[in-house]
Amino acid sequence: MALSKIKYVRAFTVRGGGADYHDQGDGHWIDDHVATPMARYPDYRQSRQSFGINVLGTLVVELEAEDGTVGFAVTTGGEPAAYIVEKHLSRFLIGRDPAEYEKIWDQMYFSTQYYGRKGLVINAISGVDLALWDLLGKLRDEPVYHMLGGAVRDELQFYATGARPDVAKELGFIGGKLPLRHGPAEGLEGLHKNVALLADMRAKVGDDFWLMYDCWMSLNLDYATRLAIACHDLGLKWIEEALSPDDYWGYADLRRNVPRGMLVTTGEHEATRWGFRMLLEMECADILQPDIGWCGGVTELLKISALADARGKLVVPHGSSVYSYHFVITRHNSPFAEFLMMHPEATDVVPMFAPQLLGEPVPENGRIRASALDKPGFGVERNPDITLHRPYPN
Ligand SMILES: [Mg+2]
Repeated sequence: MALSKIKYVRAFTVRGGGADYHDQGDGHWIDDHVATPMARYPDYRQSRQSFGINVLGTLVVELEAEDGTVGFAVTTGGEPAAYIVEKHLSRFLIGRDPAEYEKIWDQMYFSTQYYGRKGLVINAISGVDLALWDLLGKLRDEPVYHMLGGAVRDELQFYATGARPDVAKELGFIGGKLPLRHGPAEGLEGLHKNVALLADMRAKVGDDFWLMYDCWMSLNLDYATRLAIACHDLGLKWIEEALSPDDYWGYADLRRNVPRGMLVTTGEHEATRWGFRMLLEMECADILQPDIGWCGGVTELLKISALADARGKLVVPHGSSVYSYHFVITRHNSPFAEFLMMHPEATDVVPMFAPQLLGEPVPENGRIRASALDKPGFGVERNPDITLHRPYPN
């Protein structure tokens, strides 16, 4: 029962939104004075693009089988990830059956371990892994979520990440997550502004709507603790990625410090079963947030999810569009999902990876039906109007 084997591996880059969702034009909320670890340098405080957050761009991995079937995936990684895919990882793909995703993942990970383990290399491996699952689904004429065990509920429900939780509530989302704007370098005045913005949103959305703060690795333990305590009466549901992803000890302390009932979340910049095992065993977080395009792909996420499930922890993946949708619908410990509001003002629902994909479903009234995922693979196609660049043709 061998499937058609992989004949060609191609890695492309593309600029402008899409999987590198920080690669937006001027005036977008996602680049408007968001707190970051670089905000200690005033020159890099107002814009994340100023320190290079969008320097990589999107990586597109395309796998073509002998019968002409093409699977593909997008993630963040750009030219250096394209180099890794074409020059290193392709040897583990050409001539192989895409159903061997376990062995292929193992070979990709351990062959790159001496320079990989986290970050860009795992982004590249994730892109290949997602393209493998897409190809497998297209060859089997099956959606990825079927291959992952099938839907455990009829629909996905979403919270929205963006600058306008009040609008997200009107659009039917179950919650809204704001980017934190001010970090420790902006002192007590900045802390007060952070609390005031949350208070303003709470007044607009009422008592029961979820509100969260995404801190994008920008804080220290003292500041994060004070912010959590100051936001407790405003019903802050969780404080996300408050500290450096390397500071497992700080997360463990923060989780002990926050007011009872407030959740600590992190994981979008963590990778592999080993990284998430560390977060779990050190009791760093209540909700793990792996990004499917950065943590090792679906193959690795299944392992991360099982580790978390055995400890009673939720896995709510970071962004990642259809790759997240096909996974979340299949897991009881992923009861809701994130939707990144990529509209420049966060006032309307647009596909998360626009404009790079065609057929990318979007929430209606904060929900996507499982049946909207009923297409082979991840159910999306590349937008043919978007020009791709192939920097390292094999
Ligand atoms: Mg986040």
